[in-house]
Amino acid sequence: MSDTSPAAPQFADLGLPAPLLEALNSLGYETPSPIQAEAIPTLLSGKDLLGLAQTGTGKTAAFALPVLAGMDISLRATQALILTPTRELALQVAEAFQRYAQNMRGFSVLALYGGSAFAPQFKALERGAQVVVATPGRLTDHLRRGSLKLQDLRYLVLDEADEMLKMGFADDLEAVFEEVPEQTQKALFSATMPPGVRNVARNHMKEPAEIRLHSGSSSSLETITQKVWEVSNHHKLDAMTRLLEVEPVEAMIVFVRTKTASLELSERLEARGFAAAALNGDLSQQLREQVVDRLKRGLLDIVVATDVAARGLDVERITHVLNYDLPHDSESYVHRIGRTGRAGRQGTAILFATPRERRLLHVLERATGQKIEPQALPTADAVRSGRLNKLAGRLNDAREQSTALHQQLVSDLQELTSLDATELAAALLSILPSAKTLLEPVSDLPAQPPRKDRQFDRDSGLTRYKVQGGRKSGLMPKPLVDVLVKVGGIQRQQIGHIKLFNEHTGVFLPQLDQQALNRLAGAEINGIALQIKAWPLPEGELPPRDHAPRKPRRDFAKGKGKPPRKA
Ligand code: AMP
Repeated sequence: MSDTSPAAPQFADLGLPAPLLEALNSLGYETPSPIQAEAIPTLLSGKDLLGLAQTGTGKTAAFALPVLAGMDISLRATQALILTPTRELALQVAEAFQRYAQNMRGFSVLALYGGSAFAPQFKALERGAQVVVATPGRLTDHLRRGSLKLQDLRYLVLDEADEMLKMGFADDLEAVFEEVPEQTQKALFSATMPPGVRNVARNHMKEPAEIRLHSGSSSSLETITQKVWEVSNHHKLDAMTRLLEVEPVEAMIVFVRTKTASLELSERLEARGFAAAALNGDLSQQLREQVVDRLKRGLLDIVVATDVAARGLDVERITHVLNYDLPHDSESYVHRIGRTGRAGRQGTAILFATPRERRLLHVLERATGQKIEPQALPTADAVRSGRLNKLAGRLNDAREQSTALHQQLVSDLQELTSLDATELAAALLSILPSAKTLLEPVSDLPAQPPRKDRQFDRDSGLTRYKVQGGRKSGLMPKPLVDVLVKVGGIQRQQIGHIKLFNEHTGVFLPQLDQQALNRLAGAEINGIALQIKAWPLPEGELPPRDHAPRKPRRDFAKGKGKPPRKA
């Protein structure tokens, strides 16, 4: 093994209590991501924290684990408040808390977001939620009504702070800071650090420790070609099988995030007839060496690895690296793809990115100093011709090895069967096991979300509308929603993502009929006449991730995720 990376820290070194370590182990997390390795000890030490981190870096666990470590589980009061820009993220974060707290009996978490009824939220709050994950608007509503009390609060976390400010929640955030007790420990995460976010940190945090993920070096990646395939999580396995048919793969390392995933995927590949094995931190050193040795000797073609287990792996045969799951940071990415293109050979690194993850690509491009070319998923035709080409290649190779004896056999067979050359070859193909796949039906993988002029988003059935007036004229989402509901007759839960620009505002709504548009045209917000019209999404742009209205998740909305145990 040639690389000399310093030993990665382990979760057990970070000072987390046993129930959390056990939960991480059962979730299959192997090592802390870089942001976790830095943020967890900092938050455990009681310091405020300012973290520059995007989705996918593992930031949720970076704050959820230390918050859980500092909870008094016997106290039913709200001890941690997490603010997120959208209800979807609020639900995701609440779910993450519940996963990490799986061994903390009696723990309760509640997600509070706008667009759903207050009554169940009041009830859930009355029962007591130790962690509240909320969108800022709904949260301040509860604070005003006195339904949420913060006198026992220990932690306040702002997640995706830049997004919250962009959405016009600055005043709500200020109101929250006013309400939290003086000694509350604060953490703020943001993908970017515009002045607004800096100001919040400066005005409300005590000498916060700053964490930013540095990007990796781009040394010796010249022999590697990088490509990205846009694949939804659901179709990754099919896409991978397809990749193996069309790419000239000799040996491949597949990277996934967890030990569990490495085991599961390698088993599924084996079931599909590939020579695959898992390589993860659960294997003993001896077993790991065996896997690497079998890969070197060509007894294995695919190794499904976690980052740690593949560190420093140096096998010349590896022609391809597949990032089945995106890495947590660009440094791991550089490290992963460096497993191919070794000893002066050419290598290919392919990345599966879900539509939502596309925006993370530029970070990886910057870290590697190379463009990551998007590639269309191979069509059924490409798969068929790939199979045919492979067989043609084998036949060409075989011709060199065939002898006069083989030719004699063919003419003997022709005589015996009275078949002509084509008929005989066809009959031979039909009994040749490796030619079977040539006749298997291949279908096109489901197309990715259509990109063209999508005023109408098929996934959610929502249409984007443009409202005149935005940040500059002081338009706020709440009065807009009120008008859409009261005048437009739109149900509150049906209203999707709202985005404020300087001069105008985008909002995702169910398609409005002419009558609704007429009614809205007569409405006013803050004394200004409302102007609203359909606003097609530009080519290539995806709707924001919470464009779709969600059904409130009963378990969280009602605080029933895990019933509190009677003390
Ligand atoms: P986040 O950036 O918080 O949205 O997390 C991205 C994904 O990585 C989530 O699916 C987490 O469950 C997963 N994840 C977070 N930390 C780890 C870790 N240390 N090891 C493996 N997976 C992780």
